[in-house]
Amino acid sequence: MVGISSFSSAPNRSVRYGMVQLHPFFFKDENGIYKGYMPDLLALLAQNEGWRLSLVEAPGDELVQMLQNGEIDLLSMAPTPRLEKLFDFGKEHHYATWYTFFTRQDLEVLTFRDLEGRKISMQAGFFALSELRRILDGIGIRYEIVETKTVDEALEMLRSGVVDVCSAEQLATLGKVRRLSFRRSPVIFATSRIFFATTSGKNAELLARLDKKLAEMNASPLSPLPMLLRRWYYDDEFTFFPQWALWTFFSTAVVLLLVGAGFVVFFKKERRLRLQGKQLQERFEFERFLSEASRMLLSEEEGDDVLRNTCRTLLEVADARRLLLLKSTFASSRRRSVDICFEYAAPGLAHIAKTTEGKLIFVSDIPRKWLIDFTRGKVVKGRLDTTSLKDFFPASEGGYFLFYPLFEGGRFWGTLAINTHKDEECSDTANLLFHSYSKMISAYLLRKRQERRLLRLATTDALTGLPNRRSFFESLSREITRSVRRGRPISLILCDIDIFKNVNDTYGHDVGDEVLRQFARVLRKTVRAEDLPVRYGGEEFGVLLPETDLRNSLQTAERLRNVVEKTRFHIDGGVENSLFIYLTASFGVEEFLGAQDSAAEFFARADRALYEAKTGGRNRVVAGNRPQ
Ligand code: GH3
Ligand code: MG
Ligand code: MG
Repeated sequence: MVGISSFSSAPNRSVRYGMVQLHPFFFKDENGIYKGYMPDLLALLAQNEGWRLSLVEAPGDELVQMLQNGEIDLLSMAPTPRLEKLFDFGKEHHYATWYTFFTRQDLEVLTFRDLEGRKISMQAGFFALSELRRILDGIGIRYEIVETKTVDEALEMLRSGVVDVCSAEQLATLGKVRRLSFRRSPVIFATSRIFFATTSGKNAELLARLDKKLAEMNASPLSPLPMLLRRWYYDDEFTFFPQWALWTFFSTAVVLLLVGAGFVVFFKKERRLRLQGKQLQERFEFERFLSEASRMLLSEEEGDDVLRNTCRTLLEVADARRLLLLKSTFASSRRRSVDICFEYAAPGLAHIAKTTEGKLIFVSDIPRKWLIDFTRGKVVKGRLDTTSLKDFFPASEGGYFLFYPLFEGGRFWGTLAINTHKDEECSDTANLLFHSYSKMISAYLLRKRQERRLLRLATTDALTGLPNRRSFFESLSREITRSVRRGRPISLILCDIDIFKNVNDTYGHDVGDEVLRQFARVLRKTVRAEDLPVRYGGEEFGVLLPETDLRNSLQTAERLRNVVEKTRFHIDGGVENSLFIYLTASFGVEEFLGAQDSAAEFFARADRALYEAKTGGRNRVVAGNRPQ
């Protein structure tokens, strides 16, 4: 008989409210939870009151009995003289409504008489039904009432044409009637106002509180009561905007959203494409630079110029700020250092380039870790504000560099230092560019070293280290050309060791070789730095003497002859086998005769003079200068 549902967790006062189910006034949903206008209103009224509300569900007459017995505290009722004697009623009603008639569009109920002979549907179980019978019977018309369980059923009967008229509580039909486009009659009956009632003399203070709260609500322009009515009675019909306006609004919003999203996607894509384009362009330029640089670095051009030129181009292509080629070197102070071979700076920073080229960075100023990383071929990032250079690389000017190590063969040579516009940052493509270029420089440096080595091998005599025959004749014609151009004298001394065959025959070829080596050393030591000693044959040596006439070169030859004669050629063969060899040599001396003379004649004359020295008894100097 009784269902109880806890409504509020307020602990203080228990308020038991009795109820009959009547949708949407008060009903249980499919989950057994009490819902509707009344539970909401009760919850509102109980707010901040500290009441513990519980709902007691029972048929109407039972509830009246329970209220009388004090088994419940509160009931909603329309007061009648009989009930007013039994219970205390509040002063403020909390619900007011009436019944009316609904018809389809083809019928209109303007007075009760219009119901003559009509079939009327109506929800059973409420006093309005007996009220209607009382009225119609009183007028004395024929009618038929079809009783239904719910209001919806009664309305449905009207819609489907089973009945002509539906009578219903006006509030309970608000939304539905509009939706079904029924006609509402101006005739009303069974008006009722519902008040709270409590057990006589028992809950006066509860009634007083309820009255006060209801009065406050009714007085307030922000009263929640209309909202409650709307929520429960207007069904889903209530809407502030007409349907079409909502549709327009939402579809416009969706279209705008799609267009917006489209724009975002478009611009994002566009930006990405532009970025990709830029990167491609950058890559293209980088690659063009690399191929051009490799062509230049592999070309036969001489000197630092190729390196300088490609470095300068790199600075432009990579849009870097500064570029330094740092060469590891030994400074005169004997402190190991790095030499700034050359520096380029972006146009705005050109003044710096002049100031730092040729400066030395002392290795002791560079973090040890850098040096280790360099030799391992790692790229180092860091600030070049070492003690020796801090004035040139102030932090404000972006002294932050990327150092790409350079190698000459397997040996660390130096670094390519690049200062990008964005400190500490460089794009992957730029990084690749610098890497590739530094590898290219390394290859270039190695090639240059190998070229130098080959040239040395090709022009030097392996035994004595003196320029060889080929180099001698090249130097001869070069020096002759120069002296003719300047109008300066140039002389040649040819020298052949006397009876050298004996040395070989007596002591062996190895001793002969050692003697030749020592002879070359004597020769080199005895002539001036600007004179050019050569070995142009087996035991035949020559000295080219620029800026020297016959008289002076004869003196030199004589000095040489004298020194050779006096030199003890020491062959170290341990304590027992060491030996000393004394030698003499013959000399032919000649001066170049100027423009009408030729290198071949010049040499031939000197050779003849040498021959004469031999035939004349050896260990002597003979002057030429007697053209035939
Ligand atoms: P002279 O010139 O006084 O007439 O007598 P010579 O014995 O020096 O004359 P010759 O030119 O006939 O001999 C030169 C010798 O030098 C022959 C060769 O054995 C020796 N010789 C030439 N080149 C080398 C060399 O590279 N090493 C050694 N050990 N001997 C050499
Ligand atoms: Mg000889
Ligand atoms: Mg000889």
